[in-house]
Order: sequence, then C-alpha cells, then structure tokens
Amino acid sequence: PQGTVNIFINGTTDPLVVESIKNNTLILIDDTRNVGYRDYEFPYRSCVIAPLGIEGGAMQISSGKEQSFSEYDLRLLTVLTDIGTVCLANSELFRKTEELAITDGLTGLYTHSYFKERLAEYVSTANRLSVPLSLIMLDIDRFKTVNDTYGHDAGDKVILMVVESMRKNTRETDMCARYGGEEFAIILPHTKIDEARTIAQRMRAYLENCGIIFEEKILKVTASFGVSSYQKGQSTDDLIKRVDENLYRAKNGGRNRVV
Ligand code: GH3
Ligand code: MG
Ligand code: MG
Repeated sequence: PQGTVNIFINGTTDPLVVESIKNNTLILIDDTRNVGYRDYEFPYRSCVIAPLGIEGGAMQISSGKEQSFSEYDLRLLTVLTDIGTVCLANSELFRKTEELAITDGLTGLYTHSYFKERLAEYVSTANRLSVPLSLIMLDIDRFKTVNDTYGHDAGDKVILMVVESMRKNTRETDMCARYGGEEFAIILPHTKIDEARTIAQRMRAYLENCGIIFEEKILKVTASFGVSSYQKGQSTDDLIKRVDENLYRAKNGGRNRVV
C-alpha cells in the first residue's frame, strides 16, 4: 500500500533496476542500506523489481520503509510485467502499423490518402486564420520512356532521385507526398505563391543538373511543375484542381517548366 510503482522503458540509472534488466532476474530488496552499491543514493529503502519483455524495460515497486515486500509481492509483480509487456508490444505494433499506412514503401513519402487528409486540415487553417498556403504538384517527364528503355529498376532509382530533389529543396515544415506513380505533391504551409514558385524552380533546376548512374549509363530526367496558392473560400478539391491544371499547362507548354 505504501509502494510507488515505477515503469522503465528506456533504461535507468538505478543500479538495481539495471541489474534486473541486464541479468533478466527478479529482485527483492529488504533494505537498500545493505546492498552493494555504495555510491548510489537510493531514494527508497525496499523494493521489488521485475524485467519487462521489451529491451531496457522493467517494473519496480519501491517503499520508503524497509522490509515492505514479500516473495508473494514479487510474484504479483511478475503478473503485472507480463501484462505490461503485451501492452507495450501492442502499442509499438500499433505505431508501426500507423506509420506503414501513411507512408509509401519505395520513397518513404506520405501516401495519397494521408496527403488529402492533411491538406484538408491545412486548408481549414488557412481559411480560418487567413495565412498563406501553397501547393506544388510535379510529374516526371517522359517517364514511361525511362522504364521502357532501361527497365523498372532504373525507373525506381530515378523516382528516388526526384524524391531527393524534393527533400533537398523543401523545408522541415513542408509536407511531401507521393500523389501517384511518378507524380508528387508538396504542401507548403505559410508560403505565398512567389516563394512556392521559387522552390519549384529550384527543384526543376536541381533535376535538370543531376543524373544517376545506372549500369554505367547516366540517366537524366526532368519534371514539370504546377503551383497554386490557396484563395479564401476555396475547397481542398478546388485547390488540387487548380494546381493540376497548371501542371497540365506545364506539360503542354513543353515540359521541364514551372507554371
Ligand atoms: P509525361 O511527360 O506526359 O508525364 O509522360 P510519362 O511517360 O511520364 O507519362 P505516363 O503517365 O504515360 O507514364 C507514367 C509511367 O510511370 C507509367 C508507369 O509504368 C510508370 N510508373 C509509375 N509508378 C512507377 C514506379 O513506382 N516505378 C517505376 N519504375 N515506374 C512507375
Ligand atoms: Mg510523367
Ligand atoms: Mg503521370
């Protein structure tokens, strides 16, 4: 009843807990004045410790009074750590599943559905607070030719080069997504149209100037960009439609350009 429950999931400095984790053993201490760790000042007198089934994890119940726990309490604690282990493993699995659902396997960028979800939030904020918001959509030029000439693996490498150009030229707060196969979208919060165009131009120039080596050949691609900014009262779909139209104009205008 006077015990304090501590759950460790990332290790600790408490030498008794460290010992329990390291040796994977249960520990029952009647009085910390009698244990070997002389230079550690224990903030408790007695305790029970059981490791968790996850790395660096343990549960401890400690008390300011000596001899507060019995072998029975220690066994009870192992029941708790068994349940705790399952809970922690489940929450880690949940986190991983969530991550898998919102990111694309090849590029690590956000998926189309997650992008749409987030864009709707950004649009709502931009509408409410009248802050600028821009959107860039880009599509690799004549990408089918790359696949047809050099194969799908080369195509995948080219996609990764485009992703690099996006990562290198955008900011931490921008949100890059894989919109479709070789089509990408970038949400730029707090960004006006001119600034968004400048960023798109930087990516365009970056791609134009770099290439990748594939089976001793240098592969180069360009991309076309549509840019648009949010206008008060627009819906998310309106914004996507406008940026899509601009991308279409960039393609029709001869590709490798920003509209
Ligand atoms: P445009 O300049 O008009 O955009 O021409 P394009 O050839 O890029 O356009 P199109 O839409 O006809 O071709 C897109 C190609 O992208 C077809 C598809 O096979 C390829 N593609 C889509 N996703 C992937 C992928 O993940 N890996 C590879 N290697 N190719 C992909
Ligand atoms: Mg294309
Ligand atoms: Mg396309």
